[in-house]
Parts: sequence; structure tokens; C-alpha cells
Amino acid sequence: MLTLESLSAGYGRMRILHEVDLQVGAGELVALVGANGAGKTTTLRSICGQLPPQAGRIVFDGSDTAGRRPDVLVRDGLVHVPEDRALFGTLTVEENLRMGAWTAQAEDTTKRLEQVYELFPILAERRGQVAQTFSGGQQQMLAIGRALMAGPRLLLLDEPSTGLSPKLTWTMLDAVREIRDTGVSVLLVEQNAKQALAIADRAYVMESGSVVLSGGGGELAGDERVRKAYLGL
Ligand code: ATP
Repeated sequence: MLTLESLSAGYGRMRILHEVDLQVGAGELVALVGANGAGKTTTLRSICGQLPPQAGRIVFDGSDTAGRRPDVLVRDGLVHVPEDRALFGTLTVEENLRMGAWTAQAEDTTKRLEQVYELFPILAERRGQVAQTFSGGQQQMLAIGRALMAGPRLLLLDEPSTGLSPKLTWTMLDAVREIRDTGVSVLLVEQNAKQALAIADRAYVMESGSVVLSGGGGELAGDERVRKAYLGL
């Protein structure tokens, strides 16, 4: 579904990512973990078309994404949920969700609204409430819900657990797993390596803009180097 081939990218002439190779298969939940500043967000920005590669290729669904704008990639099924959530604060839950369905037919919008409300019942309960009155966790659910309204085949999630308690983080990550179970591929960026590795089918560890380790989620969680550097064990 997604392949990064020796991707290098950065800001201006500064190179942040160095020849990153990464894959997400159809229906897979893949985690990208690493310390602050390792380049995880930059990787997602490149994939969603916000940041053009300096070298290498990004292949989505068999074709190179070079030159395709983020809105075109959304139509093609590649949807990014940025860390800042970028909600419409003065709009209600339902209005925010409908904004996410700009690519959809009316009947799909109704069906997807039901699916989002089933995944996050709190959004259904508060469908008339404006987004800016929400807690961090509820805003994150709304941001993911809005992304689902576009009918993604690949969802890029940037730190959905930011600011959440450990318990709420599990609730959020369980929802991410449920999304994967509906057949949507997910690339999940997390600083919270322990929980991310626990739910991921596969994972990549990034350091200073390079992928330094990859493997099954459980396998990496048992890796001595990962345990010392990221799990505090
Ligand atoms: P975090 O968890 O802090 O978001 P990250 O692994 O996602 O970490 P990035 O946000 O991708 O890391 O940042 C990687 C590097 O790129 C950092 O050194 C950061 O300072 C730099 N960087 C990020 N955004 C910009 C930008 N807009 N302009 C210049 N440098 C940037």
C-alpha cells in the first residue's frame, strides 16, 4: 500500500530524513517510534504531500506521489491527522465531521457518520457541542473521526496519545486497532513506544532521521536496545 524508498527530506536545504525505507501493507497497523526530534512528524509530512522529498521515492498504491498535492492524495485515500488536530474550534462535532467528508457522496457521508459515532460514542452524545469546549482526548477522537469521514485506505496518525492519561491512551489505541480491523491501513507515529509496540503489527524505530531497527511489534518490545532506550527497562 505504501513504500518509502530511500526517502530523504527536510526543510529548505536542511536534511532531516536520511534514506528512510519503510513499508505499510494493506490492512496493516505499523508504528513509527523514536525520541523527540527523531524525524517522525517530518516523515508523515512527506508522505501526505506537505513536504516534497529531497531524494528517494514515496509510492502509494503502486504509483509515485511526487507532485500530487495533499488534497489530491486525500481523494486517493491517503489521509493525515496532524498532531495539532487542526479542528474547526467554533464548529460543532457534527459540522467538523461533515467537513471531513468533502470527497464523499451524500449516502456515504451518512454511513460514515454512523461508523464514527459507533467507534467514538462520546462524539454521538456531544454531536451538537462546539469542538473548542472539548478535552484533549475528545478533540483527538474528533480529529480521527473527521479523517475517517474522508474514507481513507491509509491513515497517518501523529501522536494521538499526546496529553492523554495512560488509561485514555489505551482507549485511543484500542480505537486505532479497531480502525485497522475494518481494513484501513494505519501508520501510527508515537513517542509512547511501549503502548504503540503493544498494538502494532510491525514497527520501525527512528533515530536522527534514520530507521535504525524494524520488526514485529512484540519482537521490538523484547529487543534489548529498544527496552533500554525507549521503554525505560
Ligand atoms: P516530535 O515528537 O518532537 O514531533 P519528531 O520525531 O516528530 O519529534 P520532527 O518533528 O520530524 O521529529 O523533527 C525532526 C527535526 O526537524 C527536528 O530537529 C526539528 O527541529 C526539525 N524541524 C521540524 N519542523 C521544522 C521546520 N518547519 N523547519 C525547520 N526544522 C524543522
